[in-house]
Amino acid sequence: MGEMEDLCVTECTRCPALVDSRSRIVNGAGPDDADLLFVGEGPGANEDEQGEPFVGRSGTVLDDGLRNVGLERGDIRITNCVRCRPPENRDPKKDELANCRGYLEREIAALNPEVIVTLGKVPSEHLLERSVAVTKEAGDLAEIRIDGAPRRLLICVHPAATLYDRSQEETFENALQRAADLAGVADSEGGQSRLDGF
Ligand code: URA
Repeated sequence: MGEMEDLCVTECTRCPALVDSRSRIVNGAGPDDADLLFVGEGPGANEDEQGEPFVGRSGTVLDDGLRNVGLERGDIRITNCVRCRPPENRDPKKDELANCRGYLEREIAALNPEVIVTLGKVPSEHLLERSVAVTKEAGDLAEIRIDGAPRRLLICVHPAATLYDRSQEETFENALQRAADLAGVADSEGGQSRLDGF
């Protein structure tokens, strides 16, 4: 646990606008040996309040999606591109993403996940360093290099996209299923066998 705890950012004042808008720094959460690392955009109001990524409505969608492919929140690690809530939930700016990048890279290196799953446009474009049509590319696997090390990245829509557009539910679930398969972490029948037991 020690190494990941050391990765917790406890003080940072690199982004003046975010220092003003945050009430706390929201670090990554989940086991330090997880095979899957989910990366979101940045904390929203709930995350800022509770100090954990994806604890609001998007988090509920994510939890449901994980369960449907035989996973639970406790099986995965989850973090964000920026660790402080942007004002009015605006997208993080380029310089803010850059300021926070080192923290994300350190987390990736320490965790050494089988697959990084990017939730939505901002993390996908940030880590792939190109523009991404997320709904078209969801479920696609890419190889990126971080600090020289090759990493597998799976593009996924943001869980909130399913709330605005029901047709995204299947895209979301398919990407999660692929992530679970790639990491070899879900049972072979996805979540169905588990759900049957309820
Ligand atoms: N959306 C994100 O991208 N990250 C969170 O932590 C919560 C919602």
